[in-house]
Amino acid sequence: MDDFEYVRPGSVGEAVALLAEKPGRARAMAGGTDLLVQLKVGRRTLDRVVDVKGIAELNEIHVGSDGGITIGAAVPCHRVYDHPAIVAGFPGIVDSASIVGGIAIQGRATLGGNLCNGAPSGDSIPSLAVVGAVAVIAGPSGRREFPVSEFCTGPGQTVLGADELLVAIRLPAPPPRSFGHYLRFIPRNEMDIAVAGAGAWVALDEAGVVTAARVVLASVAPTPIEVPDAATAIIGTRGEATALEAASEAAKAAARPITDMRGTQAQRRHLSGVLTKRALAGAIARARGEHVPGAHEAHRVHASATH
Ligand SMILES: Cc1cc2nc3c(=O)[nH]c(=O)nc-3n(C[C@H](O)[C@H](O)[C@H](O)COP(=O)(O)OP(=O)(O)OC[C@H]3O[C@@H](n4cnc5c(N)ncnc54)[C@H](O)[C@@H]3O)c2cc1C
Repeated sequence: MDDFEYVRPGSVGEAVALLAEKPGRARAMAGGTDLLVQLKVGRRTLDRVVDVKGIAELNEIHVGSDGGITIGAAVPCHRVYDHPAIVAGFPGIVDSASIVGGIAIQGRATLGGNLCNGAPSGDSIPSLAVVGAVAVIAGPSGRREFPVSEFCTGPGQTVLGADELLVAIRLPAPPPRSFGHYLRFIPRNEMDIAVAGAGAWVALDEAGVVTAARVVLASVAPTPIEVPDAATAIIGTRGEATALEAASEAAKAAARPITDMRGTQAQRRHLSGVLTKRALAGAIARARGEHVPGAHEAHRVHASATH
């Protein structure tokens, strides 16, 4: 690994100035679980690493009076899936945060880092995108907000400028009877990246009819992709098998996967359909008040069985 300068600013303004001083040669670091690996294997070289974990604002989880939640960009996954308001209102995000790496990784890794890394396989991105999450970004000329659903522009590429910092991810207040669910396929239980993933979110009316829906797929295109046709297929239904099947077909049609060592195009396309159907069914069940276990519950069983 080449030498680099390590700095730990105490404020957003200081961090932005440190990035702006070395355009393209300095990067923010939150947990470092992507960045340090990339530096170690030479996929990136940098003059300066700006550790943002010391900035108080980036470590906060703030619950608004309307039920919206702002998650600081340096909050580690374990604080996300242990936070009562996130567990109650955003179980799809809990699904994602609790499957990033394993328990040790979750002590450092952040949703902010997962998003800014811009990997098509980033497990938190579909769950954030389907609930309409917004990235709060700071740069030399102030702050701006940008939808998470359009944040990634290519593998490892995002809308962030070289002198910009992700400050937080803002989750809008969830409408009544609305929930998400995220599922992925990996060849083993944990510590692998998704062969394919699907995040779904629905809102129901009082009669249990789907009034709004979103589906975003991971690992089957150069960026996470939204599938509006899958949402259209489920809206106006109660999640009957035919509607779920139509949504599944829409996801398969939208997927643009590659073949690599983790899976073939055909397998990923098939998985896009299966995972979409299951994620939508899970989201609908949650919105009806049914209990749909997430990976975090499996993790806790595992943790208590091994300690
Ligand atoms: C063993 C292992 C298992 C893993 N398993 C998974 C998995 O199952 N699913 C998955 O999705 N990922 C997985 N990962 C990848 C990684 O852990 C996640 O992407 C994690 O969420 C990254 O968060 P971080 O805080 O560590 O990011 P960092 O490594 O700190 O940063 C990642 C990128 O984001 C940028 N960045 C970070 N914070 C900011 C900010 N505030 N503003 C601007 N840019 C910023 C950095 O410059 C860097 O380019 C795994 C990694 C390891 C080592």
